[in-house]
Amino acid sequence: MEIKGSTKIALVIGHPIAHSLSPIMHNEAFRRLKLDNCYIAIDIAPDGLAHFIKSLKFTNILGVNVTIPHKEAVIEYLDELSEEAIILRAVNTIKITKDGLIGYNTDVFGFEKCLEGIDIPKSSALIIGAGGAAKAVVYTLCKLNVNKLYITNRTEEKAQNLIRFVSNLFNRDVSLIPFDKWNTLEPLDIVVNATPIGMEGVGGTIDIPPSIITERTTVIDLIYNPPETEFLKKAKKIGAKTLNGLKMLVYQGATSFKIWTGIDPPVETMENAIKEYI
Ligand code: NAP
Repeated sequence: MEIKGSTKIALVIGHPIAHSLSPIMHNEAFRRLKLDNCYIAIDIAPDGLAHFIKSLKFTNILGVNVTIPHKEAVIEYLDELSEEAIILRAVNTIKITKDGLIGYNTDVFGFEKCLEGIDIPKSSALIIGAGGAAKAVVYTLCKLNVNKLYITNRTEEKAQNLIRFVSNLFNRDVSLIPFDKWNTLEPLDIVVNATPIGMEGVGGTIDIPPSIITERTTVIDLIYNPPETEFLKKAKKIGAKTLNGLKMLVYQGATSFKIWTGIDPPVETMENAIKEYI
Protein backbone atom coordinates (compact mmCIF):
# COMPACT_ATOMS: atom_id res chain seq x y z
CA MET A 1 0.00 0.00 0.00
CA GLU A 2 1.53 3.28 -1.12
CA ILE A 3 0.45 6.36 0.81
CA LYS A 4 0.25 9.35 -1.54
CA GLY A 5 -1.19 12.84 -1.51
CA SER A 6 -4.43 11.44 -2.90
CA THR A 7 -4.82 8.70 -0.25
CA LYS A 8 -7.95 9.11 1.83
CA ILE A 9 -7.81 7.84 5.40
CA ALA A 10 -10.38 6.09 7.53
CA LEU A 11 -9.78 5.81 11.24
CA VAL A 12 -10.92 4.49 14.57
CA ILE A 13 -10.95 6.72 17.63
CA GLY A 14 -10.94 5.51 21.23
CA HIS A 15 -9.06 5.95 24.50
CA PRO A 16 -7.00 3.75 24.77
CA ILE A 17 -6.85 2.50 21.18
CA ALA A 18 -3.53 0.71 20.57
CA HIS A 19 -5.20 -2.72 21.01
CA SER A 20 -7.62 -2.15 18.09
CA LEU A 21 -7.65 -4.79 15.34
CA SER A 22 -9.68 -2.63 12.96
CA PRO A 23 -6.61 -1.27 11.10
CA ILE A 24 -5.53 -4.85 10.34
CA MET A 25 -8.78 -5.87 8.65
CA HIS A 26 -9.59 -2.59 6.88
CA ASN A 27 -6.11 -2.09 5.44
CA GLU A 28 -6.11 -5.64 4.10
CA ALA A 29 -9.48 -4.98 2.43
CA PHE A 30 -8.23 -1.70 0.89
CA ARG A 31 -5.10 -3.50 -0.37
CA ARG A 32 -7.11 -6.37 -1.83
CA LEU A 33 -9.47 -4.01 -3.69
CA LYS A 34 -6.54 -1.73 -4.71
CA LEU A 35 -8.30 1.30 -3.22
CA ASP A 36 -6.31 4.47 -2.57
CA ASN A 37 -7.25 4.42 1.14
CA CYS A 38 -5.64 3.56 4.44
CA TYR A 39 -6.90 3.08 7.99
CA ILE A 40 -5.28 4.20 11.24
CA ALA A 41 -6.11 4.27 14.97
CA ILE A 42 -6.05 7.59 16.83
CA ASP A 43 -6.18 8.02 20.60
CA ILE A 44 -8.57 10.87 21.43
CA ALA A 45 -8.87 11.79 25.10
CA PRO A 46 -12.45 12.64 26.19
CA ASP A 47 -11.59 16.37 26.50
CA GLY A 48 -10.61 16.47 22.84
CA LEU A 49 -13.62 14.64 21.43
CA ALA A 50 -15.78 17.69 20.61
CA HIS A 51 -12.95 19.51 18.79
CA PHE A 52 -12.04 16.42 16.83
CA ILE A 53 -15.55 15.52 15.68
CA LYS A 54 -16.50 19.09 14.82
CA SER A 55 -13.41 19.39 12.58
CA LEU A 56 -14.27 16.26 10.55
CA LYS A 57 -16.58 18.05 8.11
CA PHE A 58 -13.68 20.30 7.04
CA THR A 59 -11.50 17.32 6.09
CA ASN A 60 -11.39 14.71 3.31
CA ILE A 61 -11.41 11.82 5.81
CA LEU A 62 -13.23 8.78 4.37
CA GLY A 63 -14.97 7.72 7.57
CA VAL A 64 -14.55 7.11 11.29
CA ASN A 65 -15.13 4.21 13.64
CA VAL A 66 -15.79 5.04 17.28
CA THR A 67 -15.03 2.82 20.25
CA ILE A 68 -14.89 2.96 24.06
CA PRO A 69 -15.33 5.45 25.74
CA HIS A 70 -16.79 7.68 22.99
CA LYS A 71 -19.70 5.68 21.52
CA GLU A 72 -22.36 7.66 23.40
CA ALA A 73 -20.57 10.98 23.91
CA VAL A 74 -20.05 11.42 20.18
CA ILE A 75 -23.80 11.64 19.47
CA GLU A 76 -24.28 15.29 20.40
CA TYR A 77 -21.81 16.40 17.71
CA LEU A 78 -23.50 14.52 14.83
CA ASP A 79 -26.14 15.88 12.44
CA GLU A 80 -28.10 12.69 11.76
CA LEU A 81 -28.40 9.18 13.25
CA SER A 82 -29.46 5.81 11.85
CA GLU A 83 -32.43 4.02 13.44
CA GLU A 84 -30.16 1.64 15.41
CA ALA A 85 -27.98 4.51 16.65
CA ILE A 86 -31.07 6.40 17.87
CA ILE A 87 -32.47 3.37 19.67
CA LEU A 88 -29.21 2.14 21.23
CA ARG A 89 -27.86 5.66 21.94
CA ALA A 90 -24.48 4.43 20.69
CA VAL A 91 -22.53 5.17 17.51
CA ASN A 92 -19.60 3.14 16.21
CA THR A 93 -19.47 4.47 12.63
CA ILE A 94 -19.52 8.02 11.24
CA LYS A 95 -20.03 8.91 7.61
CA ILE A 96 -18.88 12.35 6.54
CA THR A 97 -21.12 13.89 3.85
CA LYS A 98 -21.36 17.38 2.37
CA ASP A 99 -24.53 17.87 4.41
CA GLY A 100 -22.98 16.80 7.72
CA LEU A 101 -22.00 13.84 9.90
CA ILE A 102 -24.18 10.72 10.03
CA GLY A 103 -23.83 8.24 12.92
CA TYR A 104 -24.54 4.51 12.62
CA ASN A 105 -24.42 1.49 14.91
CA THR A 106 -23.12 -1.50 12.95
CA ASP A 107 -22.61 -3.80 15.99
CA VAL A 108 -26.23 -4.91 15.51
CA PHE A 109 -25.49 -6.15 11.96
CA GLY A 110 -22.33 -7.85 13.23
CA PHE A 111 -24.20 -9.79 15.91
CA GLU A 112 -27.09 -10.64 13.57
CA LYS A 113 -24.57 -12.50 11.39
CA CYS A 114 -23.64 -14.68 14.41
CA LEU A 115 -27.26 -15.88 14.59
CA GLU A 116 -27.52 -17.16 11.01
CA GLY A 117 -29.04 -20.63 10.88
CA ILE A 118 -30.73 -20.37 14.32
CA ASP A 119 -34.53 -20.36 14.53
CA ILE A 120 -34.68 -17.30 16.80
CA PRO A 121 -38.49 -17.13 17.35
CA LYS A 122 -38.31 -20.67 18.76
CA SER A 123 -35.21 -20.01 20.89
CA SER A 124 -34.53 -19.21 24.54
CA ALA A 125 -31.46 -17.09 25.27
CA LEU A 126 -29.38 -16.04 28.28
CA ILE A 127 -27.20 -12.92 27.97
CA ILE A 128 -24.39 -12.52 30.50
CA GLY A 129 -23.56 -8.82 30.89
CA ALA A 130 -25.44 -5.53 30.63
CA GLY A 131 -22.95 -3.12 29.05
CA GLY A 132 -22.83 -1.64 25.55
CA ALA A 133 -22.27 -4.94 23.73
CA ALA A 134 -25.05 -6.68 25.69
CA LYS A 135 -27.43 -3.88 24.70
CA ALA A 136 -26.75 -4.48 20.98
CA VAL A 137 -27.13 -8.27 21.51
CA VAL A 138 -30.40 -7.97 23.43
CA TYR A 139 -31.81 -5.48 20.91
CA THR A 140 -30.94 -7.79 17.99
CA LEU A 141 -32.51 -10.84 19.66
CA CYS A 142 -35.72 -8.94 20.45
CA LYS A 143 -35.87 -7.46 16.94
CA LEU A 144 -35.70 -11.04 15.63
CA ASN A 145 -38.47 -11.99 18.08
CA VAL A 146 -36.58 -14.40 20.36
CA ASN A 147 -38.99 -16.60 22.28
CA LYS A 148 -37.59 -16.29 25.84
CA LEU A 149 -34.92 -13.87 27.00
CA TYR A 150 -32.97 -13.91 30.27
CA ILE A 151 -30.38 -11.34 31.34
CA THR A 152 -27.83 -11.72 34.14
CA ASN A 153 -25.19 -9.22 35.28
CA ARG A 154 -22.78 -8.74 38.19
CA THR A 155 -24.36 -5.36 38.98
CA GLU A 156 -28.06 -6.18 39.10
CA GLU A 157 -29.16 -2.55 38.71
CA LYS A 158 -27.55 -2.36 35.26
CA ALA A 159 -29.34 -5.55 34.22
CA GLN A 160 -32.62 -4.02 35.41
CA ASN A 161 -31.94 -0.89 33.34
CA LEU A 162 -31.30 -2.99 30.25
CA ILE A 163 -34.46 -5.02 30.85
CA ARG A 164 -36.50 -1.82 31.24
CA PHE A 165 -35.05 -0.45 28.00
CA VAL A 166 -35.79 -3.53 25.92
CA SER A 167 -39.16 -4.39 27.51
CA ASN A 168 -40.45 -0.87 26.75
CA LEU A 169 -39.08 -0.88 23.23
CA PHE A 170 -40.56 -4.23 22.23
CA ASN A 171 -43.42 -4.43 24.73
CA ARG A 172 -42.39 -7.89 25.94
CA ASP A 173 -41.24 -9.86 28.99
CA VAL A 174 -37.55 -10.23 29.75
CA SER A 175 -36.43 -12.00 32.94
CA LEU A 176 -33.68 -10.98 35.32
CA ILE A 177 -31.57 -13.90 36.59
CA PRO A 178 -29.35 -13.21 39.63
CA PHE A 179 -25.66 -13.61 38.76
CA ASP A 180 -25.25 -16.75 40.93
CA LYS A 181 -28.60 -18.39 40.07
CA TRP A 182 -28.13 -19.50 36.45
CA ASN A 183 -28.61 -23.11 37.54
CA THR A 184 -32.31 -22.38 38.09
CA LEU A 185 -32.80 -22.20 34.31
CA GLU A 186 -33.90 -24.96 31.94
CA PRO A 187 -31.49 -25.92 29.13
CA LEU A 188 -31.15 -22.99 26.72
CA ASP A 189 -30.82 -22.59 22.95
CA ILE A 190 -28.47 -19.59 23.03
CA VAL A 191 -26.01 -18.38 25.68
CA VAL A 192 -23.97 -15.21 25.04
CA ASN A 193 -21.04 -13.92 27.08
CA ALA A 194 -21.07 -10.14 26.71
CA THR A 195 -18.53 -9.48 29.50
CA PRO A 196 -14.72 -9.29 29.25
CA ILE A 197 -14.35 -12.37 31.54
CA GLY A 198 -11.82 -14.67 29.84
CA MET A 199 -10.36 -11.99 27.59
CA GLU A 200 -6.60 -11.76 26.96
CA GLY A 201 -5.20 -9.54 29.72
CA VAL A 202 -8.37 -9.87 31.85
CA GLY A 203 -8.49 -13.62 32.49
CA GLY A 204 -11.00 -15.47 34.65
CA THR A 205 -13.64 -17.85 33.38
CA ILE A 206 -17.40 -18.07 33.38
CA ASP A 207 -18.65 -20.89 35.57
CA ILE A 208 -21.77 -21.83 33.76
CA PRO A 209 -23.72 -24.79 35.13
CA PRO A 210 -23.59 -27.67 32.60
CA SER A 211 -27.35 -28.16 33.12
CA ILE A 212 -28.21 -25.13 30.96
CA ILE A 213 -25.90 -26.02 28.05
CA THR A 214 -26.65 -29.07 25.94
CA GLU A 215 -25.85 -30.28 22.43
CA ARG A 216 -28.63 -28.08 21.08
CA THR A 217 -27.20 -24.89 22.62
CA THR A 218 -25.29 -22.29 20.60
CA VAL A 219 -22.75 -20.61 22.88
CA ILE A 220 -21.39 -17.28 21.68
CA ASP A 221 -18.50 -15.48 23.39
CA LEU A 222 -18.11 -11.91 22.11
CA ILE A 223 -14.41 -12.16 22.95
CA TYR A 224 -12.13 -12.92 19.96
CA ASN A 225 -8.76 -12.86 21.71
CA PRO A 226 -8.05 -15.60 22.72
CA PRO A 227 -9.96 -17.25 19.86
CA GLU A 228 -11.25 -19.93 22.26
CA THR A 229 -11.94 -18.82 25.84
CA GLU A 230 -12.15 -21.35 28.69
CA PHE A 231 -15.91 -20.78 28.58
CA LEU A 232 -16.10 -21.82 24.91
CA LYS A 233 -13.82 -24.82 25.60
CA LYS A 234 -16.17 -26.04 28.35
CA ALA A 235 -19.23 -25.56 26.13
CA LYS A 236 -17.56 -27.42 23.26
CA LYS A 237 -16.77 -30.34 25.57
CA ILE A 238 -20.48 -30.63 26.37
CA GLY A 239 -21.17 -30.78 22.62
CA ALA A 240 -22.61 -27.28 22.16
CA LYS A 241 -22.04 -25.28 18.98
CA THR A 242 -19.57 -22.50 19.78
CA LEU A 243 -18.72 -19.18 18.15
CA ASN A 244 -16.27 -16.46 19.21
CA GLY A 245 -16.59 -12.71 18.64
CA LEU A 246 -14.58 -12.60 15.42
CA LYS A 247 -17.62 -12.82 13.13
CA MET A 248 -19.31 -9.91 14.93
CA LEU A 249 -16.13 -7.85 14.77
CA VAL A 250 -15.59 -8.52 11.07
CA TYR A 251 -19.20 -7.90 10.02
CA GLN A 252 -19.54 -4.67 12.01
CA GLY A 253 -16.36 -3.55 10.24
CA ALA A 254 -17.57 -4.77 6.85
CA THR A 255 -20.81 -2.80 7.31
CA SER A 256 -18.81 0.37 8.14
CA PHE A 257 -16.66 -0.22 5.05
CA LYS A 258 -19.76 -0.42 2.84
CA ILE A 259 -21.24 2.74 4.42
CA TRP A 260 -18.07 4.73 3.65
CA THR A 261 -17.18 3.36 0.19
CA GLY A 262 -20.43 1.97 -1.21
CA ILE A 263 -18.40 -1.15 -2.10
CA ASP A 264 -18.98 -4.69 -0.78
CA PRO A 265 -15.81 -5.51 1.16
CA PRO A 266 -13.91 -8.83 0.90
CA VAL A 267 -15.18 -10.17 4.22
CA GLU A 268 -13.13 -13.37 4.11
CA THR A 269 -9.93 -11.38 3.52
CA MET A 270 -10.75 -9.21 6.53
CA GLU A 271 -11.43 -12.24 8.72
CA ASN A 272 -8.25 -14.03 7.66
CA ALA A 273 -6.16 -10.90 8.28
CA ILE A 274 -7.30 -10.82 11.90
CA LYS A 275 -6.96 -14.59 12.39
CA GLU A 276 -3.38 -14.41 11.12
CA TYR A 277 -2.59 -11.43 13.32
CA ILE A 278 -3.99 -13.04 16.49
P1 NAP B 1 -18.92 -2.59 28.94
O1 NAP B 1 -19.95 -1.68 28.38
O2 NAP B 1 -17.84 -2.05 29.78
O3 NAP B 1 -19.71 -3.73 29.80
C1 NAP B 1 -19.00 -4.73 30.47
C2 NAP B 1 -19.96 -5.74 31.08
O4 NAP B 1 -19.19 -6.82 31.60
C3 NAP B 1 -20.77 -5.18 32.24
O5 NAP B 1 -22.01 -5.81 32.24
C4 NAP B 1 -19.93 -5.59 33.46
O6 NAP B 1 -20.68 -5.81 34.63
C5 NAP B 1 -19.42 -6.95 33.00
N1 NAP B 1 -18.15 -7.28 33.68
C6 NAP B 1 -16.95 -6.70 33.49
N2 NAP B 1 -16.02 -7.30 34.25
C7 NAP B 1 -16.65 -8.29 34.94
C8 NAP B 1 -16.24 -9.26 35.89
N3 NAP B 1 -14.96 -9.34 36.29
N4 NAP B 1 -17.16 -10.10 36.38
C9 NAP B 1 -18.45 -10.03 36.00
N5 NAP B 1 -18.91 -9.14 35.10
C10 NAP B 1 -18.02 -8.27 34.57
O7 NAP B 1 -18.19 -3.41 27.78
P2 NAP B 1 -18.79 -3.87 26.36
O8 NAP B 1 -18.45 -2.87 25.35
O9 NAP B 1 -20.21 -4.25 26.58
O10 NAP B 1 -17.89 -5.16 26.03
C11 NAP B 1 -18.11 -6.39 26.69
C12 NAP B 1 -17.30 -7.48 25.99
O11 NAP B 1 -17.74 -7.65 24.65
C13 NAP B 1 -15.80 -7.18 25.90
O12 NAP B 1 -15.10 -8.39 26.08
C14 NAP B 1 -15.62 -6.69 24.48
O13 NAP B 1 -14.33 -6.96 23.98
C15 NAP B 1 -16.65 -7.56 23.76
N6 NAP B 1 -17.11 -6.94 22.51
C16 NAP B 1 -16.93 -7.63 21.36
C17 NAP B 1 -17.37 -7.09 20.17
C18 NAP B 1 -17.16 -7.85 18.90
O14 NAP B 1 -17.29 -7.25 17.81
N7 NAP B 1 -16.86 -9.11 18.95
C19 NAP B 1 -18.03 -5.85 20.14
C20 NAP B 1 -18.21 -5.18 21.35
C21 NAP B 1 -17.74 -5.73 22.53
P3 NAP B 1 -20.97 -4.62 35.67
O15 NAP B 1 -22.20 -3.93 35.16
O16 NAP B 1 -21.18 -5.32 36.95
O17 NAP B 1 -19.77 -3.72 35.67
